[in-house]
Amino acid sequence: MLILPKTIKIGSFVYKILFPCDNIEPEGMVGLHEYHSATIKLSKVDGSSTRTDQKIVQTLLHEILHGIDAIYCGTILEESTIGMLASAWFQILIDNDFKFDIDNIPKKVKVCGITYTVISPYTFTELGTTAGIDNPNATIRLSVGINGTKFCTEFVFVNLIGSIISAILSSYSIDMEDREGIGDTKVINTLANGLYQIFTESNLIEIIKKVRC
Ligand SMILES: [Zn+2]
Repeated sequence: MLILPKTIKIGSFVYKILFPCDNIEPEGMVGLHEYHSATIKLSKVDGSSTRTDQKIVQTLLHEILHGIDAIYCGTILEESTIGMLASAWFQILIDNDFKFDIDNIPKKVKVCGITYTVISPYTFTELGTTAGIDNPNATIRLSVGINGTKFCTEFVFVNLIGSIISAILSSYSIDMEDREGIGDTKVINTLANGLYQIFTESNLIEIIKKVRC
Protein backbone atom coordinates (compact mmCIF):
# COMPACT_ATOMS: atom_id res chain seq x y z
CA MET A 1 0.00 0.00 0.00
CA LEU A 2 1.28 3.40 -0.96
CA ILE A 3 1.81 5.66 2.04
CA LEU A 4 2.41 9.31 1.30
CA PRO A 5 3.25 12.07 3.79
CA LYS A 6 0.23 14.11 4.94
CA THR A 7 2.18 17.34 4.46
CA ILE A 8 5.25 18.57 2.65
CA LYS A 9 7.09 21.83 3.21
CA ILE A 10 7.89 23.91 0.13
CA GLY A 11 9.70 27.10 1.10
CA SER A 12 7.77 28.46 4.07
CA PHE A 13 4.49 26.83 2.96
CA VAL A 14 3.32 23.60 4.56
CA TYR A 15 1.33 21.87 1.83
CA LYS A 16 -1.39 19.38 2.69
CA ILE A 17 -1.26 16.28 0.52
CA LEU A 18 -4.78 14.98 -0.05
CA PHE A 19 -4.54 11.34 -1.14
CA PRO A 20 -6.57 9.57 -2.28
CA CYS A 21 -8.61 12.48 -3.63
CA ASP A 22 -10.80 11.14 -6.39
CA ASN A 23 -12.99 14.11 -7.24
CA ILE A 24 -10.45 16.60 -8.47
CA GLU A 25 -11.89 19.53 -10.38
CA PRO A 26 -11.65 20.13 -13.30
CA GLU A 27 -12.80 16.62 -14.08
CA GLY A 28 -10.24 14.25 -15.52
CA MET A 29 -7.27 15.67 -13.60
CA VAL A 30 -5.17 13.11 -11.70
CA GLY A 31 -3.27 15.71 -9.69
CA LEU A 32 -3.62 19.34 -8.72
CA HIS A 33 -1.44 21.97 -7.06
CA GLU A 34 -3.28 24.81 -5.31
CA TYR A 35 -0.97 27.61 -4.25
CA HIS A 36 -3.64 29.72 -2.50
CA SER A 37 -4.66 26.88 -0.18
CA ALA A 38 -1.25 25.12 -0.10
CA THR A 39 -2.82 21.85 -1.15
CA ILE A 40 -1.70 19.04 -3.43
CA LYS A 41 -4.48 16.69 -4.51
CA LEU A 42 -3.69 13.25 -5.91
CA SER A 43 -6.16 10.82 -7.42
CA LYS A 44 -5.90 7.07 -7.11
CA VAL A 45 -7.99 6.54 -10.22
CA ASP A 46 -7.86 7.71 -13.81
CA GLY A 47 -11.34 7.35 -15.25
CA SER A 48 -12.34 3.79 -14.49
CA SER A 49 -8.79 2.46 -13.97
CA THR A 50 -6.69 2.44 -10.82
CA ARG A 51 -3.40 4.28 -11.12
CA THR A 52 -0.16 2.49 -10.26
CA ASP A 53 1.86 3.64 -7.23
CA GLN A 54 4.57 4.72 -9.63
CA LYS A 55 2.18 6.97 -11.58
CA ILE A 56 0.81 8.48 -8.36
CA VAL A 57 4.30 9.31 -7.05
CA GLN A 58 5.27 10.72 -10.44
CA THR A 59 2.23 13.01 -10.19
CA LEU A 60 3.25 13.97 -6.64
CA LEU A 61 6.67 15.05 -7.92
CA HIS A 62 4.96 16.96 -10.76
CA GLU A 63 2.72 18.85 -8.29
CA ILE A 64 5.68 19.54 -5.98
CA LEU A 65 7.48 21.10 -8.96
CA HIS A 66 4.43 23.36 -9.48
CA GLY A 67 4.80 24.30 -5.80
CA ILE A 68 8.51 25.06 -6.20
CA ASP A 69 7.72 27.12 -9.30
CA ALA A 70 5.02 29.06 -7.40
CA ILE A 71 6.99 29.65 -4.23
CA TYR A 72 10.57 29.99 -5.44
CA CYS A 73 10.14 31.25 -9.01
CA GLY A 74 6.85 33.22 -8.97
CA THR A 75 4.92 30.83 -11.24
CA ILE A 76 6.82 31.33 -14.45
CA LEU A 77 7.30 27.81 -15.83
CA GLU A 78 5.25 26.36 -18.65
CA GLU A 79 3.22 23.22 -18.00
CA SER A 80 5.35 21.31 -20.51
CA THR A 81 8.54 22.34 -18.69
CA ILE A 82 7.13 21.08 -15.37
CA GLY A 83 6.15 17.80 -17.07
CA MET A 84 9.63 17.37 -18.53
CA LEU A 85 11.38 18.17 -15.24
CA ALA A 86 9.09 15.82 -13.30
CA SER A 87 9.67 12.80 -15.52
CA ALA A 88 13.41 13.48 -15.77
CA TRP A 89 13.89 13.93 -12.01
CA PHE A 90 11.80 10.86 -11.24
CA GLN A 91 14.28 8.74 -13.22
CA ILE A 92 17.34 10.65 -11.95
CA LEU A 93 16.35 10.00 -8.32
CA ILE A 94 15.95 6.29 -9.12
CA ASP A 95 19.23 6.05 -11.07
CA ASN A 96 21.42 7.91 -8.56
CA ASP A 97 22.07 7.69 -4.86
CA PHE A 98 22.44 11.26 -3.64
CA LYS A 99 23.75 11.64 -0.11
CA PHE A 100 23.98 15.46 -0.04
CA ASP A 101 27.14 15.10 2.01
CA ILE A 102 30.00 17.46 1.15
CA ASP A 103 32.50 14.64 1.71
CA ASN A 104 30.55 12.37 -0.65
CA ILE A 105 30.06 14.40 -3.82
CA PRO A 106 29.12 11.82 -6.47
CA LYS A 107 31.81 11.07 -9.05
CA LYS A 108 29.18 10.16 -11.65
CA VAL A 109 25.61 11.32 -12.19
CA LYS A 110 23.20 9.60 -14.57
CA VAL A 111 20.90 12.07 -16.33
CA CYS A 112 18.38 10.87 -18.92
CA GLY A 113 20.50 7.86 -19.85
CA ILE A 114 23.78 9.80 -20.04
CA THR A 115 26.42 9.28 -17.36
CA TYR A 116 28.07 12.58 -16.50
CA THR A 117 31.47 12.65 -14.82
CA VAL A 118 31.55 15.09 -11.90
CA ILE A 119 34.92 16.77 -11.50
CA SER A 120 35.15 18.20 -7.99
CA PRO A 121 36.91 20.00 -6.49
CA TYR A 122 37.46 22.05 -9.62
CA THR A 123 39.12 25.45 -9.78
CA PHE A 124 37.66 27.79 -12.37
CA THR A 125 39.80 30.47 -13.89
CA GLU A 126 36.74 32.66 -14.62
CA LEU A 127 36.03 34.89 -11.63
CA GLY A 128 32.69 34.11 -9.95
CA THR A 129 32.12 30.78 -11.73
CA THR A 130 31.41 27.98 -9.28
CA ALA A 131 29.91 25.29 -11.53
CA GLY A 132 30.04 24.39 -15.17
CA ILE A 133 28.55 21.82 -17.51
CA ASP A 134 30.01 20.44 -20.71
CA ASN A 135 27.18 18.48 -22.35
CA PRO A 136 29.07 17.14 -25.40
CA ASN A 137 31.68 15.64 -23.06
CA ALA A 138 29.14 14.73 -20.33
CA THR A 139 31.12 16.53 -17.66
CA ILE A 140 30.03 18.62 -14.68
CA ARG A 141 32.62 20.72 -12.89
CA LEU A 142 31.98 21.84 -9.33
CA SER A 143 33.98 24.20 -7.20
CA VAL A 144 33.92 23.62 -3.43
CA GLY A 145 35.57 26.83 -2.29
CA ILE A 146 37.29 30.02 -3.28
CA ASN A 147 40.51 31.63 -2.03
CA GLY A 148 40.74 29.23 0.90
CA THR A 149 37.08 29.68 1.95
CA LYS A 150 35.07 26.49 1.79
CA PHE A 151 31.58 26.62 0.31
CA CYS A 152 28.74 25.30 2.46
CA THR A 153 27.12 21.95 1.59
CA GLU A 154 23.91 23.65 0.42
CA PHE A 155 25.75 25.88 -2.06
CA VAL A 156 27.69 22.99 -3.61
CA PHE A 157 24.64 20.73 -3.97
CA VAL A 158 22.41 23.52 -5.30
CA ASN A 159 25.14 23.98 -7.94
CA LEU A 160 25.08 20.24 -8.68
CA ILE A 161 21.27 20.18 -8.94
CA GLY A 162 21.38 23.26 -11.21
CA SER A 163 23.93 21.51 -13.42
CA ILE A 164 21.65 18.47 -13.61
CA ILE A 165 18.73 20.72 -14.65
CA SER A 166 20.96 22.10 -17.43
CA ALA A 167 21.79 18.52 -18.46
CA ILE A 168 18.06 17.67 -18.58
CA LEU A 169 17.38 20.68 -20.82
CA SER A 170 20.23 19.64 -23.08
CA SER A 171 19.03 16.05 -23.31
CA TYR A 172 15.56 17.26 -24.30
CA SER A 173 17.29 19.56 -26.83
CA ILE A 174 15.74 22.60 -25.22
CA ASP A 175 17.44 25.86 -25.95
CA MET A 176 17.27 27.74 -22.67
CA GLU A 177 17.03 31.05 -24.50
CA ASP A 178 13.94 29.86 -26.36
CA ARG A 179 12.04 28.24 -23.54
CA GLU A 180 9.96 30.78 -21.70
CA GLY A 181 10.40 30.60 -17.96
CA ILE A 182 13.51 28.51 -17.72
CA GLY A 183 15.57 30.57 -20.16
CA ASP A 184 17.73 32.06 -17.48
CA THR A 185 20.47 30.58 -15.32
CA LYS A 186 18.97 32.48 -12.35
CA VAL A 187 15.74 30.50 -12.76
CA ILE A 188 17.69 27.24 -12.86
CA ASN A 189 19.49 28.23 -9.68
CA THR A 190 16.22 29.16 -7.95
CA LEU A 191 14.59 25.89 -8.99
CA ALA A 192 17.66 24.06 -7.73
CA ASN A 193 17.23 25.72 -4.32
CA GLY A 194 13.65 24.47 -4.17
CA LEU A 195 14.59 20.94 -5.21
CA TYR A 196 17.44 20.83 -2.70
CA GLN A 197 14.99 21.73 0.06
CA ILE A 198 12.54 18.98 -0.96
CA PHE A 199 15.28 16.37 -1.39
CA THR A 200 16.83 17.06 1.99
CA GLU A 201 13.76 17.90 4.12
CA SER A 202 11.21 15.35 2.92
CA ASN A 203 11.23 11.61 2.31
CA LEU A 204 10.34 12.07 -1.37
CA ILE A 205 13.49 10.30 -2.64
CA GLU A 206 12.79 7.33 -0.37
CA ILE A 207 9.19 7.15 -1.66
CA ILE A 208 10.36 7.30 -5.30
CA LYS A 209 12.94 4.54 -4.76
CA LYS A 210 10.26 2.37 -3.16
CA VAL A 211 7.86 2.52 -6.12
CA ARG A 212 10.42 2.12 -8.91
CA CYS A 213 9.70 -0.74 -11.26
ZN1 LIG B 1 0.98 20.31 -14.12
